[in-house]
Amino acid sequence: MTEKLSPTTDFESVSQQAQQGVMLSPSPISLEETQDSIAEIIEAYPKKVARKRSKHIVVRDPSIPEQEINANARTTPGIITQRGCAFAGCKGVVVGPFGDCVHIVHGPIGCSYYSWLTRRNQFKPREDGKDFLHYCFSTDLNEHDVVFGGVNKLKQAVQEAYDIFQPKSITIHSTCPVGLIGDDIQGAAREMTQKLGLPVVAFNCEGYKGVSQSAGHHIANNGFFQHWIGNDTETEEIEGFTVNLMGEYNIGGDSWEIERVLEKCGIKVVSTFSGDASYDDAIKAHLAKINLVMCHRSINYMANMMEEKYGTPWMKVNFIGVHAFAKSLRKIAKFFNDPALTKRVEDVIVEELAIAEAQLTQYRKRLEGKTVFLFVGGSRAHHYQELFADLGMKTIVAGYEFAHRDDYEGRQALPNIKVDADSRNIEELDVERDPERYNPPSDAEMERLRNENIMNDYKGMMPDMGEGTLLVDNISHHELDVLIKRFKPDLIGSGIKDKYVIEKFGVPCKQLHNYDYGGPFAGFRGAVNFAKDVDLRVNSPTWQYIKAPWD
Ligand code: SF4
Repeated sequence: MTEKLSPTTDFESVSQQAQQGVMLSPSPISLEETQDSIAEIIEAYPKKVARKRSKHIVVRDPSIPEQEINANARTTPGIITQRGCAFAGCKGVVVGPFGDCVHIVHGPIGCSYYSWLTRRNQFKPREDGKDFLHYCFSTDLNEHDVVFGGVNKLKQAVQEAYDIFQPKSITIHSTCPVGLIGDDIQGAAREMTQKLGLPVVAFNCEGYKGVSQSAGHHIANNGFFQHWIGNDTETEEIEGFTVNLMGEYNIGGDSWEIERVLEKCGIKVVSTFSGDASYDDAIKAHLAKINLVMCHRSINYMANMMEEKYGTPWMKVNFIGVHAFAKSLRKIAKFFNDPALTKRVEDVIVEELAIAEAQLTQYRKRLEGKTVFLFVGGSRAHHYQELFADLGMKTIVAGYEFAHRDDYEGRQALPNIKVDADSRNIEELDVERDPERYNPPSDAEMERLRNENIMNDYKGMMPDMGEGTLLVDNISHHELDVLIKRFKPDLIGSGIKDKYVIEKFGVPCKQLHNYDYGGPFAGFRGAVNFAKDVDLRVNSPTWQYIKAPWD
């Protein structure tokens, strides 16, 4: 059957149109009900908080060309937020997944212990067998260290980690108390780098920096860019259609499914930031021809800096959802502009889509018309709308935890975003061209790519949401309670802090930070896993027997 299909068959175009139709269709909730719900949410707040929060809650109106939403602002104290801290964004998200390196948390044990293995990012050791992902390294700072300083203890910990494990690199992550006592972790890292002859990189990612984990992503990007990228000075070129996967964290094995399909197409992944990530791959990242940006929020800094220094262009992709994956593969083929590659990509899409569709059809029958809330990440609340639409499920409320306005409105909003004191707290690096290794596509190529409109841009989540749908940035538990009671969604995609509150309402929650115990959900096979998982939750009769303890 697969050989008979072509990319222009009715089968693909019909299913894709249906998917886009679901995404862009108006909300099934009436505008009046939506406005009443917002009023109920806002009424509960004191005046000042109400004024602030109302700027973070927007009813989608596609007739407004550049609709705005406030984002990346401080959470009001007392409000229960989903957000994490800068330490979580730096060590937990971007740096932690490098499995052949040792990541030392400099601080009291709590931050380290409670962030130990919670992300479910997977790692396969390379030939050298180095795999430290499952360990928890901490200096376990105590009262004595807080009073007299913890730098000596830190250096001792680095030495010990080196002696026992011989990792490829050692990273140091400072937590809140360390920022307060002022331990010089950068000085310690420099000293230990010289002493041990391997990169020891310190990240000043104290939890209180910035307004959310987003600050930690930026700090991690800066550290990697300054201390790792380009460290391979011997390899001059990697042949073939080479890419880096940026902002893909291999939760539940996502990047393995993405790589499986890319490899089948003939596209080689040089490095991934930071799913199944290894130091030896990361230091070659500057040799890839393009950066494929999945999570725009957590990695766009690195993509921009690499373009300035090495001339590596970047492209926004989404590998979540079968049609989104097909679209992204075609964008990559357009970038390389090679007829044989384009043909191979089309063949792979036809083959993979046919297999996936055959299985998705049965789930779609049971899921079509169901409604979803999505509150996750800085890109996932956008990415997953495409996969839900593949299943005929409509996202009626969506919001990010830690995104900035450009993740909602698109990068054209960037010049209008005010840089406040919290953002200024995170260093913007001055980046210069590498005199020898700056290697952008030719002017003619860049012109072609600009005309194709596929490079260096992200249009954000808003344009993909239909009229009357609701966007809520940094949602609180109170807001979630009101919306669950009024809109009665069939499923909520969210994180661990909300999961059990949501399920006590009798609504299934799919954790989209760490996927609970499932995955992969990316790519063609991942979409089928996801459909099965969602079907089991949404169509389980269990939910009707649950009564919230507070009702
Ligand atoms: S906010 Fe500070 S104390 Fe809390 S987990 Fe983050 S780094 Fe640790």
